[in-house]
Amino acid sequence: MVLKEVEKPEEFETSEIFNVLDKYYSSSQIEIAKFISSYYFSSLGEAIALFVPYRNPCSHVPRGNVDENLNNKKILDTSMHSHVERGNELPRLSEDQQKAYNSLVNKEKALLFGVTGSGKTEIFIHLMTKIIEEGKQCIFLMPEISLTPQMESRLKKYFGERLVMWHSKLTKKQKEKILEKIYNKEVDIVAGARSALFTPLENIGMIIVDEEHDDSYKAMMKPRYHARDMAVYMGQKLGAKVLLASATPSLGSYHKYDVVKLSKPFIKTKKNYYFVDGTTLTNGMIKRVRGNFEAGEQSLLFVPTRGNFKYLYCQKCGKTHLCPYCSVGMALHRNVRHLKCHYCNFTEAIRESCVSCGHRPLTSERMGTAEAKEMIENGIPEMVVEQFDRDSISTAGKLKKALKRFENKESHLLLGTQMLSKGHDYANITLSVILGMDYMLGLGDYRARERAMSLLIQIAGRSGRAKSADVIVQSQNEEFFKMYLHDYEAFLKDEMFFVEDMYPPFVTLARILISHVKEEKAGKTTLDTVTKLKAFEGVEIVGQGKAPIERIANKYRFHILLRSSSRKEMLKALYAVNNPAIEIDMDPVEFS
Ligand SMILES: [Zn+2]
Ligand SMILES: [Zn+2]
Repeated sequence: MVLKEVEKPEEFETSEIFNVLDKYYSSSQIEIAKFISSYYFSSLGEAIALFVPYRNPCSHVPRGNVDENLNNKKILDTSMHSHVERGNELPRLSEDQQKAYNSLVNKEKALLFGVTGSGKTEIFIHLMTKIIEEGKQCIFLMPEISLTPQMESRLKKYFGERLVMWHSKLTKKQKEKILEKIYNKEVDIVAGARSALFTPLENIGMIIVDEEHDDSYKAMMKPRYHARDMAVYMGQKLGAKVLLASATPSLGSYHKYDVVKLSKPFIKTKKNYYFVDGTTLTNGMIKRVRGNFEAGEQSLLFVPTRGNFKYLYCQKCGKTHLCPYCSVGMALHRNVRHLKCHYCNFTEAIRESCVSCGHRPLTSERMGTAEAKEMIENGIPEMVVEQFDRDSISTAGKLKKALKRFENKESHLLLGTQMLSKGHDYANITLSVILGMDYMLGLGDYRARERAMSLLIQIAGRSGRAKSADVIVQSQNEEFFKMYLHDYEAFLKDEMFFVEDMYPPFVTLARILISHVKEEKAGKTTLDTVTKLKAFEGVEIVGQGKAPIERIANKYRFHILLRSSSRKEMLKALYAVNNPAIEIDMDPVEFS
């Protein structure tokens, strides 16, 4: 890659250019890559490797073949206009949808805050059509592409072959085929996961980030960029419109961007919420599921699995034991008999009784998918259970088959984890049982409340799209959940006060990860880094020490968590300590 011309250096040998490829990176790609490498602390090479290069428009034609050259030109010309041939008439917008559309059409950057089932997709289709008619292209991001076949078929209905899907599970051949279409200007929309952002579109007019609250937008390996934040950055750089959307937007986006609301559900259905005690699947719940099954209806059972740690919570008042300094759950380390905060590393003896109500003993057990499945199958042998988690649904093919079976009513219960909250609508579900919400609420993560609340709304929103539904929520925090179930905006407003001065979006967080096969070495690097960081007054060291997961792949892991009210000060400190022995995660969402 040629970045710029310089004088021939004397310090090392240089080589001649042997061959010039037909691909090139545009200056804006290089500029954006430079930003990624400097903000997210990766090498420029790692950052530019995210991008698919452009192709020199003439060079792909075999030399000397004039006829083919002409033919290619022709294809190019006709395809320029073929976007007018849409697959279908545009969907009609309701009065509310039209209002939201009118407001969005004039904004460069906005957050569409629409309750589940309010018809956001129709608005996307209208906006994208407008952009395409202006001769520009769209990028449509979804958090987990393999989990969203429904969205794909809805979009394909309108945009046909001019929409392509782009994600990391594509084979090399499939990617080449799609790229050929992009290079030949036969594509108006690239829909896909994070990586779709970096496809070589000529003239990006709009980037949509659907389900913008989803954490899978954050890359967990270098470069550790956040695709939502990058979409906003790129929109600014490229002069493209950026639209974020969610039924449960992240606190950060709600705080930062213009909000356009879509508050009336498209189809009105009734949901009845019931709150019950306990921490496992009860006979009462199984009875309800059986009753629903016998009535010929379908049900959903959610079991949380997030996190590798156990927390102490109170069976009586439903509160999790929290770190007094960080307001996040204290994780139980039973083998060393203590509780530990994974942010500041504060440790204390295992608590016997609840600090809020005095109840004892405190519980730490919770139920996994395997146990729940066994209980259900023992209790209702005739019922067919569809297991919905990463172990069972490992490919897009398996997902499609499972969805088909459920749609055809060949299976009767969806049993699964966080995956259930993503993307699909299950029109026929009339009973949802949601376990472990207090566990979700008490996780050792500053966004535990936000995640729990959003998860509950997302799961409940998946069911009862066609008929009214019952939702059984296992939680002692009925008051908390009830307050916000129908008003996520009120939750966001209250949460602002809760996180103020401590957590994003009001302060910047960064995490430094240190790992090494020798424990002492990793420990020493951590201490050296902390010593250097202490010179920076604008940066607070929240905690340092062993990482929550102390060892991965034979390497000992340590971490340092930093907080600053100034992004600039944070970056300054991080530049000063950065070296190959440490890894920096800006705006982290994962703390294990
Ligand atoms: Zn209690
Ligand atoms: Zn703490």
